[in-house]
Amino acid sequence: MATTIRIADIANYVGQEVTLKGWVYAKTGKGRLHFVRVRDGSGQVQCVAFKKEIDPEYFEIVKGLTQESSVIITGEVRADERAKGFPAGYEIGLKTVEVVQEAVDYPITPKEHGTEFLMDRRHLWLRSNQQWAILRIRATIIKALRDFLDNDGFLLVDTPIITPAAGEETTTLFSIDYFGDEAYLAQTGQLYNEANMMAHGKVYCFGPTFRAEKSKTRRHLIEFWMLEPEIAYCSLEELMDVEEQMVAYVVQQVLEKNRPELEAIGRDISKLEVLTAPFARISYDDAVEKLQAAYEKEKDPEQKELLKIEWGEDFGSPQETALAEMFDKPVFVYHYPSAVKAFYMQPVDGRPEVCRSVDLLAPEGYGEIIGGSERIYDADLLIQKIDEHGFDRANYEWYIELRQYGTVPHAGFGLGIERTVAWICGLAHIRETIPYARLLNRKYP
Ligand code: ATP
Ligand code: MG
Repeated sequence: MATTIRIADIANYVGQEVTLKGWVYAKTGKGRLHFVRVRDGSGQVQCVAFKKEIDPEYFEIVKGLTQESSVIITGEVRADERAKGFPAGYEIGLKTVEVVQEAVDYPITPKEHGTEFLMDRRHLWLRSNQQWAILRIRATIIKALRDFLDNDGFLLVDTPIITPAAGEETTTLFSIDYFGDEAYLAQTGQLYNEANMMAHGKVYCFGPTFRAEKSKTRRHLIEFWMLEPEIAYCSLEELMDVEEQMVAYVVQQVLEKNRPELEAIGRDISKLEVLTAPFARISYDDAVEKLQAAYEKEKDPEQKELLKIEWGEDFGSPQETALAEMFDKPVFVYHYPSAVKAFYMQPVDGRPEVCRSVDLLAPEGYGEIIGGSERIYDADLLIQKIDEHGFDRANYEWYIELRQYGTVPHAGFGLGIERTVAWICGLAHIRETIPYARLLNRKYP
């Protein structure tokens, strides 16, 4: 009996007979020569069935193999520079084949399908090369983010998903019935993170986040995953240092581990290779000036309209895109108007109309991937902000208490996993960055 191997490890078995357990990705060939591309989850390899080299019984089975049938194959591993696959450079000289189950009329064929058709069959679409590659890159990104923080003294501390009150604004909350009481699905772990930070110094939470965003955009999901670090005794400038080191590390890890996947999805890798720290840092004031200057210069009326901005307004995606296009790396925009940011952000000394906030905008039109800030650490100021926003003080008692027992300046940020995946993979829409996207018009499958 040949050893069962994972295709990912195929390089270690050149010249040996091995067993693969997987699925038929595609089959081509005619007459005496057939090619079966077999995937096993870890990788993909072409198996070559040459009539005179194998038992006629097996050759007949090979001829009838259908897309996505589950199969167990044995054969000899050969190195071949020209062979495509994951990893590239190997093929299998097929000897035997056993069909575990024959798949009849697999709905996703090599022809072009519409996105809605594919999203309806997401449970199957996940097997396609591109989707397979994207989710592997997503896994690398998540691991790299966590490794970076774990190696830098952060502690993973989970925050609740069911919460008694809004984290920030109430408009995008999902409410649930909590034994006759109203509760909400978390739209951020932030507030709890601050309590955890007071206990552990440097913490992060990583979990699903829910926002009833009623807008259909290429960047918004209803359910997405967010990584939120929170750091005691940290300034906004130090926060940007952490963010740029972390993002640069993540990109470098993807380049190191997922080059074949990036190639499979057609990513322009040269755009990622330049992404080393530091990243440019500009103030909101400067950003507005740059946009207004671009507005003056723009000839095309349609484009011009998109650039339009008055001081005090939040950036929409066209403005974020235009700004980011002025840089070839991600760019930090700091000190946004307090009015467009969350109630807990620390005002700038002597200029309370702006706050100690910072967004990181990704290049190539991907917009904001991280939002962060220094948090208000004075109890009285925090209470004042809670009142100004019309929130019920009773809901925030515990949060205010954090400022009454050993308060310290602190800062933190939230990074959206799917926005980061979309950018690093160069995808046009966020829906392919998560296994099962929840969108305004979709919760199936
Ligand atoms: P935007 O203005 O683009 O909606 P936001 O300001 O609401 O973003 P934050 O509340 O700061 O975003 O959340 C932190 C990060 O979470 C964002 O930088 C982004 O990467 C991600 N994020 C926010 N909302 C969504 C969403 N609906 N779908 C996917 N990711 C999101
Ligand atoms: Mg939002």
